[in-house]
Amino acid sequence: MRPLLSKTTYMYGMQCHKRFYLNRFHKNLANPEDEQSQAIFQTGTDVGLLAQNLFPGGVNAQGTEEWHSELTVKRTAELLNQVDIIYEAAFMFNGVICAVDILIRQGNTFYAFEVKATNGVKAQHTEDAALQYYVLSNNGLNLGDFSILHLNREYVRIGDLNLAELFKPTSVLSEVLEKQTFIPKNIADFKKLIYLKNIPDIEMGAHCNQPYACNFSNYCLSLIVAEEELPDEELNHEIIVDEPAWNTFKENFTYPLFFFDFETVMYGVPVFNFSRPYQNLPFQYSLHVLVNEQAQLLHHAYLGDGVQDPRPDLIMQMIRDLGTEGTILTWNMSFEKGVIAKLAIDFPEYEADLMNIYGRIVDLMNPFRPSQAVVFSEAFAGSYSIKKVLPVMVPELSYQNLQIQEGGTASFMYGQMMALGEESRAQLRKDLLAYCHLDTLAMVKIWQRVEESV
Ligand code: SF4
Repeated sequence: MRPLLSKTTYMYGMQCHKRFYLNRFHKNLANPEDEQSQAIFQTGTDVGLLAQNLFPGGVNAQGTEEWHSELTVKRTAELLNQVDIIYEAAFMFNGVICAVDILIRQGNTFYAFEVKATNGVKAQHTEDAALQYYVLSNNGLNLGDFSILHLNREYVRIGDLNLAELFKPTSVLSEVLEKQTFIPKNIADFKKLIYLKNIPDIEMGAHCNQPYACNFSNYCLSLIVAEEELPDEELNHEIIVDEPAWNTFKENFTYPLFFFDFETVMYGVPVFNFSRPYQNLPFQYSLHVLVNEQAQLLHHAYLGDGVQDPRPDLIMQMIRDLGTEGTILTWNMSFEKGVIAKLAIDFPEYEADLMNIYGRIVDLMNPFRPSQAVVFSEAFAGSYSIKKVLPVMVPELSYQNLQIQEGGTASFMYGQMMALGEESRAQLRKDLLAYCHLDTLAMVKIWQRVEESV
């Protein structure tokens, strides 16, 4: 029997019946594939291959097919009697085809491992492991355990990768067993969807990003009637500053005033010594300095080369640029503080200087939080993101004309830097510097705008 469902489409169904249906019958309505999602997919594949080295000598049942197919199922069935370790072992039951990344046989008992390029087990991993267990056990496999093999957030790379420490197995067998009774019902529900004449009528909501961002979001958004949203220009742009509260906020500030922002990059598998899976590694900063109230604005910046570990040079320059005195303003300080605290652990020789910087950081975002409303405008629309606050406070300054307009893109592009030719790399450096420069200039202008109004 041809499979009706795969593990992926089962998970689409668990997220949203409409996504399941659109994926099956209207793939053309999907968002265009972007480079970032492809890179995430590639990371998953690379981590999967790396994990196979923990169980050497296995045979891959998938062969050269792009997807698991009836051929993979047939090859798996043959391999089960021949080898003790199978990669991409595929099985089919009740119209569902799915594979486990690594299947180990010990005597009559099998142990399944599903590799995930994350720092722990997430709810959706248990959900798809439950489906795999259902299919495998109904093929007569005696499963002794089922584990998610994920990255170990505590692992610190020193020298060559230590795979036994990089990966951490977590058994999900008991959760998977609890879910078994629901699986046939879910499968039956999804099979019924296939016979629907029309696209299921489901409104967008929190589920569109849980557990993954849905790739039909553009289509569903296009269905929402535009008039439902109050046009931005109808919101009142008046800025109201609670002057006593603003004065309290800044009463302990000392010049020079620093306006500081990091950009960071994360690697699932640590690339550099003294780094962990998915650690936020700073590769760039922008710093604007107001030496005193009258002083001209100064600017400093650091940007790594995309190859070497950027942190040692960045730390040294940062310590020089930020000195030992003066208030450091950031937007959402928990991020900058978190990065600095990790730098102090990984580079203990700079701990004292880094912790001095850490102790001088203040959050310019706080007065804009609706709960504090020290600075308030209806046009913030309840948001205190700098991207929302800036156009209201300083309409003449905008991210619109920049090639890079948000941190996720900056991080992704930095990761691509060394693959680029010289000319494109030079352009990318300019774009990254321009983006981060605007982040801190925005803070300066917002600060000055509030100061002028009090
Ligand atoms: S965008 Fe949301 S509502 Fe639309 S298909 Fe995806 S998950 Fe379903």
